[in-house]
Amino acid sequence: METSRLDRVTAALHGRGMAGLALMPDANLTYLTGLTFHHGKRLTLAIFPADGSQPCFIIPALERTRAEASSSIPMRYFPWADADGPVEAARAAMEAALGPALRGMPLGVEYTALRVMELRGLEAAMPGIEVADATDLLAELRMAKDADELAIMEQAARIVEAGLARAIGQIRVGMTERQLSKIVSEEIVAAGGEGESFENIVASGPNGANPHHSNSDRAFVSGDLITIDCGARYRGYISDTTRTVALGEPDAEARAVYDLVRRANEAGKAAARPEASGSEIDAAARQVIEAGGYGAYFIHRTGHGIGMEVHELPNIVAGSDAPLVPGTTFTIEPGIYIPGRIGVRIEDDMVITADGARSLTNMSRELLVIPA
Ligand code: ZN
Ligand code: ZN
Repeated sequence: METSRLDRVTAALHGRGMAGLALMPDANLTYLTGLTFHHGKRLTLAIFPADGSQPCFIIPALERTRAEASSSIPMRYFPWADADGPVEAARAAMEAALGPALRGMPLGVEYTALRVMELRGLEAAMPGIEVADATDLLAELRMAKDADELAIMEQAARIVEAGLARAIGQIRVGMTERQLSKIVSEEIVAAGGEGESFENIVASGPNGANPHHSNSDRAFVSGDLITIDCGARYRGYISDTTRTVALGEPDAEARAVYDLVRRANEAGKAAARPEASGSEIDAAARQVIEAGGYGAYFIHRTGHGIGMEVHELPNIVAGSDAPLVPGTTFTIEPGIYIPGRIGVRIEDDMVITADGARSLTNMSRELLVIPA
């Protein structure tokens, strides 16, 4: 599995005329090597040559044993000790990986991840080095998941749904958003999650109208809609789901808004298939809400890619025109937000299959009314 990922990186580097790729500890390094590091203060960089030869790893000496034991691919190690500093090790690694010069080609780095420390380290090791942004290259490679990744993501979806269902079962009048948030978090871990994939959102009553609401001490009252957005982390991958439930009988407009969002969620999922674009899926979901007269209240994109991170490619939004391929995983999460009054969002995790698409999350989307 990892070998073929490396082959795909090599091919992509060739295609973009890059001499190689330098990765600091982050999701992409984990994706290619299986290694996980915290973002430390000691220079740690893996150099992947475009010619497909073994990657060279600039690594603090104290981390070497662990890295060698747990890397899923063979690498050449260039350890450095605190007393010496990293420059000599970095120079040796760069020369071994790329030759004494880059022959006019830039070295790919992630503009969205690399820090000034890593960039200065590369420049000190190879004065005059040119870098180019490889953020998209890796994001595109990671979009389509293989069978192993999908199996893990499916489990991450099952875990969050088990946790969320148990949390919903505990909702009652007088409970606060923060109290429910804590329950959601604990139930996700109890269901087998290694943690939450992000800090959950519990938005009740008028707070539901803010898609990025910060959980408050507002206590639930009868008639509230309560939107819960949460995810589980599991073996390096995440899930991300949202359900909106009613506490006590909702009013007619709340029911109508809920129904519109549920149909938009369905329409978005029905539009998901190989060759469809994020733009088309967004339009399919959005059209339902616009036709219902609430277009102005659907104020965000329909979804985003998911995988090792909560926000990956593809974006499910106008202008995202690349055709999706089987294995691509993303959310469909339309919502309606009426300021000061109510909010509804229904979010599922999807995967494009050979002949359509499948939802990894399967909790009921019918409006659940909790007796108040
Ligand atoms: Zn979400
Ligand atoms: Zn999401």
